[in-house]
Amino acid sequence: MRIVLPRSGASCDLHGMVATLGRLFLDAVAPRRCAGCDAVSEEPICGLCHEVLQTGPTPAPWRLPTVVAFAAFEFDGVVREVLHRGKFQGDRAALEALSRLACPRLGRVPRPDAVLAVPLGRRRRRQRGYNQAEVIAAVLAEAEHVPLLDGLVRCRETAPQAKRDEAARLANIAGAFAWHGVPLGSAGVWLVDDVLTTGATAMAAATVLAEAGARRVTAVVLARVL
Ligand SMILES: [Zn+2]
Repeated sequence: MRIVLPRSGASCDLHGMVATLGRLFLDAVAPRRCAGCDAVSEEPICGLCHEVLQTGPTPAPWRLPTVVAFAAFEFDGVVREVLHRGKFQGDRAALEALSRLACPRLGRVPRPDAVLAVPLGRRRRRQRGYNQAEVIAAVLAEAEHVPLLDGLVRCRETAPQAKRDEAARLANIAGAFAWHGVPLGSAGVWLVDDVLTTGATAMAAATVLAEAGARRVTAVVLARVL
């Protein structure tokens, strides 16, 4: 916005000025830091961490009973830090940046007709303000030029999975999902989540999607815990 002062004819770019002052203020109080290594960085993920991420290994596909899972990264180091910030500290920009870095590493995954995210329970979504899996799925859907579908719902809250063993996770998650969306009409879909541990969540959700008509469900995650 350009404001022309009527008497003197002097002008100032108010929008630019406010933006610059705001930036200076933010830099002074809380400079942006890299989500991977905490170094001061203009970008959500700094150049060094970019390099670490681009050169790190990609886990092999994992064949589970009801779904094949692909991960872009191992859940370790920089990846673990970025995901933690994206999930628990509201750093969506870092999550999006990591998702964009994941795209070229997903070349061998069967191409999708649509992408959808593993849903969060309503209470947890409210606490966090967003579903991290949806943030990731939106980036992947855009990169693949396919729609991002909703319709997979979590019909009951499940206790956190992190400290359970495999059998307990399966029992905890069974029946937690339902499909309330349009008929999937033999589409191949990517079921997207942030992290894959035992695969119990992916298997439960994939079963529901197959019942809803999906021709092929592929679990796609940013990182796998090995
Ligand atoms: Zn960094």
